[in-house]
Amino acid sequence: YEDRDGYIWMDGTLVDWRDAKVHILTHAMHYASAVFEGERCYNGTIFKSVEHSERLIASGKALDMPIPYSVEEIEKAKYDVLKANGWDNAYVRVLAWRGAGEDMGVAANKNPVRMAVAAWEWGAYYGDAKMQGAKLDIAKWKRPSPETIPTAAKAAGLYMICTMSKHAAEAKGCSDALFMDYRGYVAEATGANIFFVKDGEVHTPIPDAILNGITRQTVIAMLKDKGVTVHERRILPEELEGFEQCFLTGTAAEVTPVGQIGDYMFEVGALTREISEDYEKLVRS
Ligand code: PMP
Repeated sequence: YEDRDGYIWMDGTLVDWRDAKVHILTHAMHYASAVFEGERCYNGTIFKSVEHSERLIASGKALDMPIPYSVEEIEKAKYDVLKANGWDNAYVRVLAWRGAGEDMGVAANKNPVRMAVAAWEWGAYYGDAKMQGAKLDIAKWKRPSPETIPTAAKAAGLYMICTMSKHAAEAKGCSDALFMDYRGYVAEATGANIFFVKDGEVHTPIPDAILNGITRQTVIAMLKDKGVTVHERRILPEELEGFEQCFLTGTAAEVTPVGQIGDYMFEVGALTREISEDYEKLVRS
C-alpha cells in the first residue's frame, strides 16, 4: 500500500501518497493510542459520512484523546481526498493517533493528536462469499468487557485479537472468525456485526460489548420498516444450531450472507438476499 500514486490528507494538508509517513517514536505504534473509521463512498457520496465523523470524535473522547478537528473539518478532509484522487467509489479510512512528542512513556498528554485520511478502491470484503455465504471459524479469543476496554470505541487496541483470530480462521479455510464475548454470548466478527434469521424474525446481539455498527443500525431500521421483528438479545452459542439464516453487516462487508459457522450450516435465504439487495440500493440512492 505504500508505493503508489495518489494523495493522502495528513494534519490539514494533502501530501503525496508515498510521503504519508510517521516517526518510529509515534506513541500510537507503541501503545495503540489510535482510533479510526472505515467508510464507503458510493457514486460520490460517503454513506453515513457525518455519523462516521461523529463516531471518530466519540472514540477519541473515549480514549481521553480529543480529536483536534470538528465534524465539518473531517467531512471536508474526506471529500478533499476523494477529489484529489479522482474517486467516486472508494473505501475511506480516517485515522487519529497520538504522535511522537515530549513523552515516550505510557502517559502522553503533551504528544499531539494527529489525523490522516486515506482512500483506496476496495471491492467485496468477503469476495465470492457475498453470493455463496461466508464460512466462519469460532475465535478462541473473546470480546472483552466494557469494564476492561472502551468497547464502544473504534480503537486500534481492540483489533489485536481480530487480526490474530482472522489469521487463525484463514488458516482453516474460513473467511472470518466469530467472537463470543467475555460472558460467552455471541458477539461479532473481526470487522462486522452478526444477524440471524429464524421463523421470519431476526435476532442480533445487544451492542453492550461490541461495536454498534453504523451498518447494523441501518439494517435494523430497514428490517423494522419492512415489518420484520428484530430481537436485540443475548444469544448463546448453543442457539446457532436452530437459526436458518445468518448474515454479517459492516461498512466493508456491507450485507454478506454466512453459510457456515464452525459445524453449523445456514441457507442463503430470501430475507438475507432481500436485505443485501435493499442495502445495495440504499447506499447508492
Ligand atoms: N464490529 C467491528 C469489530 C468492526 O470493525 C466493524 C467495522 N467498523 C463493525 C462491527 C461494523 O461497523 P460499521 O457498520 O460501522 O462499519
